[in-house]
Amino acid sequence: MRHLLLSRLLLRRSSAPPSSHHNHLTLLRALSSAPSPISSDAELRKYAGYALLLLGCGAATYYSFPFPADALHKKAVPFKYAPLPEDLHAVSNWSGTHEVHTRVLLQPDSVEALQDALAAAHKERRKLRPLGSGLSPNGLALTRAGMVNLALMDKVLDVDVKKKTVTVQAGIRVAELVDALREHGLTLQNFASIREQQVGGFTQVGAHGTGARLPPVDEQVISMKLVTPAKGTIELSKEKDPELFYLARCGLGGLGVVAEVTLQCVERHQLVEHTFVSNADEVKKNHKKWLSENKHIKYLWIPYTDTIVVVQCNPPSKWRTPKLTSKYGKDEALQHVRDLYHQSLKKYRTEAESNDPEIDTLSFTELRDRLLALDPLDKEHVIRINKAEAEYWKKSEGYRMGWSDEILGFDCGGQQWVSEICFLTGSLAKPTMKDLDYMENLLQLIEKEDIPAPAPIEQRWTARSKSSMSPASSSEEDAIFSWVPKDKDELAELQARLGKRFPVDAYNKARMELDPNKVLSNAKLEKLFPVLEPVHQAK
Ligand SMILES: Cc1cc2nc3c(=O)[nH]c(=O)nc-3n(C[C@H](O)[C@H](O)[C@H](O)COP(=O)(O)OP(=O)(O)OC[C@H]3O[C@@H](n4cnc5c(N)ncnc54)[C@H](O)[C@@H]3O)c2cc1C
Repeated sequence: MRHLLLSRLLLRRSSAPPSSHHNHLTLLRALSSAPSPISSDAELRKYAGYALLLLGCGAATYYSFPFPADALHKKAVPFKYAPLPEDLHAVSNWSGTHEVHTRVLLQPDSVEALQDALAAAHKERRKLRPLGSGLSPNGLALTRAGMVNLALMDKVLDVDVKKKTVTVQAGIRVAELVDALREHGLTLQNFASIREQQVGGFTQVGAHGTGARLPPVDEQVISMKLVTPAKGTIELSKEKDPELFYLARCGLGGLGVVAEVTLQCVERHQLVEHTFVSNADEVKKNHKKWLSENKHIKYLWIPYTDTIVVVQCNPPSKWRTPKLTSKYGKDEALQHVRDLYHQSLKKYRTEAESNDPEIDTLSFTELRDRLLALDPLDKEHVIRINKAEAEYWKKSEGYRMGWSDEILGFDCGGQQWVSEICFLTGSLAKPTMKDLDYMENLLQLIEKEDIPAPAPIEQRWTARSKSSMSPASSSEEDAIFSWVPKDKDELAELQARLGKRFPVDAYNKARMELDPNKVLSNAKLEKLFPVLEPVHQAK
């Protein structure tokens, strides 16, 4: 590079017009001891400078040769990002679909420190949004303006084996909590697909597993310590301040930072999982019975096929132990997916790249992710993958048994945009079947609009929650709710829908009392639950 620049410089000089040719001669003369036509000291210094520059360039050229043997083969490595300053934290959600860079990421190690941080933010009108493990697919916790995370407040404070309750600092992760409960013979009633959430985030968004008799996890909160910007620390339970307690149990981090929580647990138990492949007619015929008889049940719908995978989990029966094997081994169940991957690599890449040596080590979801990544918008390609998935599940039919926290997890695959809808679908005694209608319409829409929709579309059920901001909130004790991924709504329509569905006025009133300066808020929360400007100014 240096060499190239230099040659161009020299070239320009040698092809320069006659007047500069004269300068060139003058310069040479200045270098020799011959008498000089230079008339002033300034001119002498100028030409001496030129001479030095020329000498420097000459030396640089001389020392650049010869080029190293591999010089021609070196590839340029462009900088993708400038390095971040040391005090800038990059925080992204689990899927990597939302990311912010912030200079303020506080990690207090006590309730007092948390209280001080929030009081200061309130006084200075700065943002301090609670951030858990950052799993929420919509990046609900993130804001560039400043966040507070309770990773250093992750202790188990008390276990009451008799009452089957546990009190924890809200920064503890679900996986660690379950490990700690194990030695007391306890566990949580239900789980989401993964267990990386902090208990604060887990309960604040009303996370859920599946089972028409099992509520979302916020329903397990018996009491909590909420640290607020304007009112300091408040102890909440259904006895102390029921209205605020039920609002704040699923408060989306907008009413305060949950510092401590007491949760209702259940005895540690095993489950037998039964996976089988069904179809729309069979599901319709059995739906009511299956919802009511199975402790946990979910359907995995596979677009562009008539396959519905049914997964049921129940305590082991005293009378009948199923054969805990499946007809096919893991490799046999996966071989056709690996074959499809090889064929697709040949189609989309060169022959040389199509022999991926890693292929035999990949799980089904990893294979699916790689296959989809080759051409996610090609409908025919996606349909081939979906059909391979249907066959994979057919070959994976069978039973397995394990502790509930292991059995209820589910490998959801890689990067994903998720928007989930939860709606009432009658009661256990009288299901409306709206849940199955919804899926039928959704699958028809996908086909009609030629949407390259990958599998699976997971449908689950929960009992109601008494938390007023929960999507499954209901005063009807036996109400059941179905949870399915959904398209994004237009904002105005979404706000109107939220207004009809949730006590938005009560939520906003509580927000203005506990956090008038919107310290805990971010753009997302403001969009969903817009409030007028602060009712009073901080002193
Ligand atoms: C692979 C995967 C699988 C998933 N499976 C399921 C599933 O099966 N069922 C389900 O329901 N969800 C599921 N989720 C979503 C996930 O469970 C929830 O988004 C989760 O509970 C968030 O926990 P978090 O600690 O990551 O909170 P974050 O995402 O960090 O925050 C979530 C919300 O809680 C607030 N918050 C966090 N901590 C506190 C605190 N201490 N005090 C007050 N507010 C707080 C934040 O401000 C934010 O509003 C899944 C997510 C992933 C990535």
